[in-house]
Amino acid sequence: MTQNFQTYLTQALHDLKDRHLRRNLTNYIGTSPTELTHANQTLISFADNDYLNLSNHPAIKQAAAQALEQYGMGVRASRFVCGNHPLYEQLETTLAAHCQTEAALVFGSGYLTNLGVITSLCQKPDLILADKYVHACMIDGALLSNATLLRFKHNDLAHCQKLLQQHRQQYRHCFILTETIFSMDGDLAPLEDLLNLAKQYDALMISDDAHGLYQTQHAPTPKHHIRIGTFSKSLGSYGGYVCASALIIEYLKNTARPAIYSTALPAPLLAATLRALQFIKDEPAYCARPIDHAQYFCQLMDLPITQSAIVPYIVKDEEKALALSAFLQTQGFFVPAIRPPTIPKHTSRLRFSFSASHQNSDIDRLVRALRSFIYY
Ligand SMILES: *Cc1c(COP(=O)(O)O)cnc(C)c1O
Repeated sequence: MTQNFQTYLTQALHDLKDRHLRRNLTNYIGTSPTELTHANQTLISFADNDYLNLSNHPAIKQAAAQALEQYGMGVRASRFVCGNHPLYEQLETTLAAHCQTEAALVFGSGYLTNLGVITSLCQKPDLILADKYVHACMIDGALLSNATLLRFKHNDLAHCQKLLQQHRQQYRHCFILTETIFSMDGDLAPLEDLLNLAKQYDALMISDDAHGLYQTQHAPTPKHHIRIGTFSKSLGSYGGYVCASALIIEYLKNTARPAIYSTALPAPLLAATLRALQFIKDEPAYCARPIDHAQYFCQLMDLPITQSAIVPYIVKDEEKALALSAFLQTQGFFVPAIRPPTIPKHTSRLRFSFSASHQNSDIDRLVRALRSFIYY
């Protein structure tokens, strides 16, 4: 490494630290559905995306263990060589039925799904309109695709429509990108309205449902709606998927590079994911609990009532967010400080996420700790 480059890297890391934006890896072990152990301290986690606490569920672990025993861990190759275990087909059929689409395709992760779908469907002559708050992997996909990328203000239909009016005609195909539940704000996209806009302007909509899979959907998915999601959150497993028309899925199988040039997922993961999907189908009342808990927290904190299991508490300043997170840790709670570039500048926050297994008494104690800091 040249001296120049070493200096450059060192300086860049110093700058991040000075701006309270340096990231560190810390060890955590999940010790119960809602607890984490960190440096001999047990913390109640309001940080993770395991909304249904399925990551350690006995029936799901058993499904994985059985598949591990029967088929082993690795799958030897890409799905398009000889890694296409029959569990894939079962899983994709189940996902398509869940989303009421014709077909589905599984990828290595949610990140890879977004990257694969967007780079495969969108090209240079096309236009992508993305909500200002969509996840980094949608933006990465859009940038890699070489299509023209424009952003509309968060959940702002009028702005989206204005961009469509101004720009749609100059491009071949058009795609509207949104999340169904925004991961750092917990608010919902106006999906129906966006879908209508897409239809009106001959555009397709790609939505990322990473945080919403367990909230049951009933309406069939229209053909111009492409639905992406992940197994790593409410299903407590790992992997990503897209649900769409049979034609789109067939095209993706032939062109989506992260699906083609990457090794297939291990069979135990597929088995666990299938079992978790079954769990969601069987337990609608249980699936309502994370949101109930989040709403209970909002009530106690006089915050706007959330429609998801995610509640942001915006303190704006990076240093303040880190201080509040550190204080809560001394009180036995783990709540991460979320800082740019994950979220826009001057909106640093604590992100609270709630799961089915939290108790109201946990939330009462959390609120007492928060208040003691805020009024301190
Ligand atoms: C977490 C997340 C992803 C990434 O999914 P992984 O399976 O963890 O790669 C993609 N999109 C959104 C909106 C997410 O919140």
